[in-house]
Amino acid sequence: MGNYQKIESAVIHGGIYGDKTTGAVNVPIYQTSTYEQSGLGQNTGWEYSRTGNPTRAALEALIAELEGGTAGFAFGSGMAAITAVLQLFQSGDRVVISSNVYGGTYRVLDKVFQRFGLSYTIADTTDLDAFEKALTPDVKAVLVESPANPLLTVTDLAAVAERAKRRGALTIVDNTFMTPYLQRPLTLGADIVVHSATKYLGGHSDVVAGLAVVNDAALAEKLAFLQNATGGVLGPFDSFLLLRGIKTLAVRMDRHVQNAEQAAAWLKQNPSVSKVYYPGLPCAQGYEINRKQAKNGGAMISFELHEDCDIRKFFASLRLVALAESLGGVESLVCHPASMTHASIPYEVRQKVGITDGLIRLSVGIENWSDLRDDLAQAIKLSKEN
Ligand SMILES: *Cc1c(COP(=O)(O)O)cnc(C)c1O
Repeated sequence: MGNYQKIESAVIHGGIYGDKTTGAVNVPIYQTSTYEQSGLGQNTGWEYSRTGNPTRAALEALIAELEGGTAGFAFGSGMAAITAVLQLFQSGDRVVISSNVYGGTYRVLDKVFQRFGLSYTIADTTDLDAFEKALTPDVKAVLVESPANPLLTVTDLAAVAERAKRRGALTIVDNTFMTPYLQRPLTLGADIVVHSATKYLGGHSDVVAGLAVVNDAALAEKLAFLQNATGGVLGPFDSFLLLRGIKTLAVRMDRHVQNAEQAAAWLKQNPSVSKVYYPGLPCAQGYEINRKQAKNGGAMISFELHEDCDIRKFFASLRLVALAESLGGVESLVCHPASMTHASIPYEVRQKVGITDGLIRLSVGIENWSDLRDDLAQAIKLSKEN
């Protein structure tokens, strides 16, 4: 920490600030694969950019500081970060995942890691008794999201981490939906935080990236080894884009959340909307727990339209809000989890966890709320005409 106390300053001044050689206020893009050595065994501390690159290192130091960790690692995507973290485990081990986990996380465990003998159990982590039952002796890790994708269900992160620790399992929290500005899982007892930095951290829908943060030296050493050994690293230019995006994280999140709170309240009172999922609504599952562990409800909302609305027409009628995968950018996006983000989860599993075919997920952007409201209203109206 430098000459500041608060995260609004840390996003701008944290990690490694500027460039000592020139006084540049931004860390330069070190677009290099290798570094000249002055003699055998003599180097500047930089040898090869898979192992380390100054622009990536600045980003890694920044995310570690923001999450309250001791070491950060940047990867080419959120899935590359999650994959590297899962490579900490071995054949015979088991990972417990929360039932609404990101579709790609489920897929990599089911289709890739399972082939190497790493098993998984899906558990409802919002129910601590059900979660405890899933903690069989072979469980070495628990991977949770809170709020979870796409039903925004809240898991008590401190309670889960405490129970996992008692059984000797690590707690991994995917903090993509909240960012360290709204929630810091390491301070709640988690061992590893992962991010799809593609989303709010990047914030402008212009980079695909992943991050992992730990606060334990032994874990840091293992992850550094895995990052270098398996090589899914983030390039210097994309590291720069993330450094740039993170500088405005606090102001962006404030506006995202302000719009989301208005959107959730508006959807809630709309007669054409049958369900609203938003952890910032007092009637939401886990509202109190979320309030305890996070600054607010974030900016992701899911909802269902009444049966007299045709959701195909709803999607086709939107003019400002774009239909797209992803979330967390300045622009508002909607998606259809059943056919898009969660399509890799089998139909029966989707029904069981509540990802119905009528579910709509809204990533609330930072446009003016009244423009967003008008667009949603006209699309809902058109979805009812035939
Ligand atoms: C998008 C996302 C991922 C995957 O990240 P990529 O950057 O797309 O690889 C993982 N977890 C969550 C919660 C996500 O939203």
